[in-house]
Amino acid sequence: MKTAEKLYEGKAKIVYATEDPNSVLQYFKDDATAFNAQKKGSIKGKGEVNAEISAALFQLLEEVGVPTHFLSLEGPRELLTRKLEIFLIEVTVRNRVAGGMAKAFDIPEGTVLQTPVLEWHYKSDACGDPLMNDDHIQAMKLATPEEVEEVKRLTWIVNKTLIEFFAAAGLELVDYKLEFGKDKSGKIYLGDEISPDTCRLWDMKTGEKLDKDRFRRDLGKVEEAYQEVLKRVRER
Ligand code: 5GP
Repeated sequence: MKTAEKLYEGKAKIVYATEDPNSVLQYFKDDATAFNAQKKGSIKGKGEVNAEISAALFQLLEEVGVPTHFLSLEGPRELLTRKLEIFLIEVTVRNRVAGGMAKAFDIPEGTVLQTPVLEWHYKSDACGDPLMNDDHIQAMKLATPEEVEEVKRLTWIVNKTLIEFFAAAGLELVDYKLEFGKDKSGKIYLGDEISPDTCRLWDMKTGEKLDKDRFRRDLGKVEEAYQEVLKRVRER
């Protein structure tokens, strides 16, 4: 299925062409980066954990009506996905204050939010993924108003579904990042991955961080945290 043609190599994944022009193979690496790739390292087994968790969550989201790029889990760290044109927009959802929001607004990490916050960030490493609003999206022609509305609609379904799923696994979904794209017909799908690399997940009983912040902040037990999330996802 996979061909030798590497279409793209990102920080955490390699995308290969397949014999089908409408699908690609995503290979999940153990490489880890943080702070716009200023910090680099590796998390043993991360690729397998993130591929399996993403596959499980994409299937769950399909069941509740969110179209995703997921087609099949092809190997322990390989997902066959629909080929999409990804919007240059990162969709961040925050259910509790942490990370970038704590810093930008000088609010203590862990502060409860009255309502969830949906943020747009420009998907550009060169610019450091800056925060932007709906006007930027239109002015910069990153998506049409109808596409933005559809992305918002799908994102709120994702949020409700994932909060409930992780809560049943004893994990609080603090915040996360999504990426959407469209196929040749213009249909919008959820793309990228959903994993401890892209979500903040806190143990509901102890408050322990079980996500990439363990790597970003040198908290130790990084591999163990990823394996713990996988174990809980498998038990659901
Ligand atoms: P923050 O803006 O607080 O740094 O990130 C908010 C949430 O989105 C976190 O769960 C973080 O993991 C995720 N996120 C935002 N941007 C990126 C990114 O470029 N890469 C990854 N892996 N996660 C991101």
